[in-house]
Amino acid sequence: MSDEDSKLNQAARIVSEARRGVALTGAGISTESGIPDFRSPGGLWDQFNPVSAGTLSRFEASPEAFYQMALEVGPTLLSARPNAAHKALVKLERRGHLTGIITQNIDNLHQRAGSRSVAEIHGSIMECTCTRCQILFPVDVLVEKALVKKEIPPRCDECGGLLKPNVVLFGEGLPPAAVDRAERWVRECDVFLVAGSSLTVSPVNMLPVLAKNHGARVIILNLEPTPVDRVADVVVLGKLGTILPRLVAQVESFSTARAGT
Ligand code: NAD
Repeated sequence: MSDEDSKLNQAARIVSEARRGVALTGAGISTESGIPDFRSPGGLWDQFNPVSAGTLSRFEASPEAFYQMALEVGPTLLSARPNAAHKALVKLERRGHLTGIITQNIDNLHQRAGSRSVAEIHGSIMECTCTRCQILFPVDVLVEKALVKKEIPPRCDECGGLLKPNVVLFGEGLPPAAVDRAERWVRECDVFLVAGSSLTVSPVNMLPVLAKNHGARVIILNLEPTPVDRVADVVVLGKLGTILPRLVAQVESFSTARAGT
């Protein structure tokens, strides 16, 4: 057995014992669905300047520039389909190993795969809000205005205010309800599984440490090492579309073996 196989085996053993597991996912779980992450070569930061494109102050000062970027990446996000890694997490939830998924992603792919309990701490592309009257609209309204009618920036039909996708921009606070839910899960979890995050964005990169301090075992699955690997019980490097389904198959085989004894 290779070193990576034995680590995957170890991770599967831990997950198979989880009763209140929590997964934290990042952009790396969706790259195999065709959505670039931020920091890998060819990722979004190679294409856009995050300071000019993704901060709240720039959105307010120049919504046209923000929407030019949104028109580039929006169709990819909206047409992407869940991959094998998203589906593997659905199985863990259905088997009772996962209480919920905390995701930094805005792409809605966990829900589209079938996960029920998802805390979107960086928001979601599926909704937008009028920055003046605060009415909430589904993403279809944005698509119709920005993509079909080329109304840039799109405005609220009720009051003429600027519409903003419900995604957290740099310089903006995180949605309190999602953060409260995520923190409660982390404090109560027995296993904390990170999948596809560089763990460089604060405060999310503190969550593995918080989970560890509350007694959880921590597993990190990623293509490359992260600055938080030192707190992990197991780190497995590899592509999530391959390693997560393998991990879940192992979890299933452990359960079957237990049921047979
Ligand atoms: P990140 O870009 O900082 O890190 C992604 C990590 O995933 C990297 O370490 C990379 O090596 C790894 N990775 C890439 N493909 C992988 C694969 N197939 N298998 C395993 N690992 C893989 O992303 P982050 O940590 O999520 O944080 C950055 C921010 O990016 C978040 O705030 C998030 O909101 C935003 N974002 C979201 C999306 C999305 O919704 N899909 C896409 C891009 C950026």
